[in-house]
Amino acid sequence: MSASESCSVSSVVYTIQANTPYETSIHVIDGRRAGPTAVVVGGIHGDEAAGYEVGARMLDWGLERGRLVVIPEADADAIRRGTRHGAVGHLNRQFPTGSEPGSGLARDIWEVVEMHDPGIVIDMHSSRGIWGAETAFDGYGQAIFSAPSTAALEPAEQTVAALNRGVRDAYPESYEFTVGATIDGSEPMLAHKVVGELDRPGYIVEVTEDDTDLPTRIGWMESAVSGLLGEYGLQTDGAGQR
Ligand SMILES: [Zn+2]
Repeated sequence: MSASESCSVSSVVYTIQANTPYETSIHVIDGRRAGPTAVVVGGIHGDEAAGYEVGARMLDWGLERGRLVVIPEADADAIRRGTRHGAVGHLNRQFPTGSEPGSGLARDIWEVVEMHDPGIVIDMHSSRGIWGAETAFDGYGQAIFSAPSTAALEPAEQTVAALNRGVRDAYPESYEFTVGATIDGSEPMLAHKVVGELDRPGYIVEVTEDDTDLPTRIGWMESAVSGLLGEYGLQTDGAGQR
């Protein structure tokens, strides 16, 4: 294959919760070369568009190395309604470490994670506030929340540093990304269960909605996700550098 050809990838799509309001697609994308597996989740909260928009865009990313398992719309019912929660309730409180997921949808999502045996899991969110900053709303934006091990924190630090090279000139200092509180299995969230039960690096990426437009949030999210994936050896075609 010549260098001028784009990465040839194969992808498989299947559905969970078929024929229910929660029916949603799981995309398994194989890069040109074998490598680590990542599970990336968007739309756990239906009113956080950056997450599910980036999930959709990732289906068009080129992948040179590794396997991407993308769930763009984890709570499709909430996304359709345009609300944080759908009829299933608060999906990101249905993943307790050490016990069964709290709904059929949560169980199916967890089965996807377990089945693919990922080396990294990323959950994409947005927030009205900024983590650690005095803003009108409390919140979690502009942060990557990481598993507590040094091996997990180091990639988060590297990704934050790269993100901030783009943020620094365009936004006030409070908009710089930071590494947030650690994820340790103590909360019934998807990323916590990844860390607490599977002992794998789980991350939550949060971008702020405070005086930002959706394209900006999407750009930050793409950079954060492609940066973390790169740290784990999944080579994308640089969608995050657009
Ligand atoms: Zn969220």
